[in-house]
Amino acid sequence: MIHEIAPHSFRNEWKPRRPVSDDVVFGYDGRNVILKSDQTFFHYGELDHRHEFIYLFSIDETAFYLTEIPQTNKAISLNINFARYYEPRMLGFACVTGWHLYRWQKRNRFCGSCGAHMIPDGKERALRCPECGNIVYPRINPAVIVGILNKNDELLITQYAISHGEYRHDALVAGYCEIGESVEDCVRREVMEETGLAVTNLRYFNSQPWSFSESILFGFFCDVEDDSISLDRQELKSAVWKKPDDDYDLPGEASLTANMIRYFRDGKVHYGL
Ligand SMILES: [Zn+2]
Repeated sequence: MIHEIAPHSFRNEWKPRRPVSDDVVFGYDGRNVILKSDQTFFHYGELDHRHEFIYLFSIDETAFYLTEIPQTNKAISLNINFARYYEPRMLGFACVTGWHLYRWQKRNRFCGSCGAHMIPDGKERALRCPECGNIVYPRINPAVIVGILNKNDELLITQYAISHGEYRHDALVAGYCEIGESVEDCVRREVMEETGLAVTNLRYFNSQPWSFSESILFGFFCDVEDDSISLDRQELKSAVWKKPDDDYDLPGEASLTANMIRYFRDGKVHYGL
């Protein structure tokens, strides 16, 4: 998955330091990332230092910064989705995590409570209002991905409705947690809303930070006794029960969804177990 970058070590503890020549610098413009024309990332030593360099996090001994990178003939811009497939994965993960922080900074330049200019807190990864003391942390949306099994040991594979963006690969039921509910209640509600199925026997699988949607994803497998589907066509184009040997159109291995479907196809999860 995208955050699995061993043997490298992601260090998000708040220990900013001054940039050195080999540190990596990200620049973004909306949904685009600014890269060198050879599709590698800029280093601190390669940029002029007119703009502010904001510390993001470190991986091993390399620190990562956010700055404004002018779009010159030495630079190109690519949609952030390229980071899903970027090699080495460590840099793809760093790039989308940086984009998550870029969006947070950009949307919180002013205090939502009193309208004053926000400033870096300095003590932790937070923005603080110098007028009223409002503190804003990076936004992380909790969401669930659900692998549903029936009595025939088949997995429910969905396709998102066209109105739901560009994603066209096989998917699992998924959705954001609502206010006042547990993650488990979210699983039950999302499955009921999208498919009309009542799930039981929830078992937690794994989690994954997914900065493309500013989310933390929680993967669950669960069972259904009655597998007749009543599809929410606003959300889903189709939902089909599939056996491990059927044909699949899997997303890239960076995603939790792909890992869960692969886990099922490898015979590692079954109805009732
Ligand atoms: Zn304020």
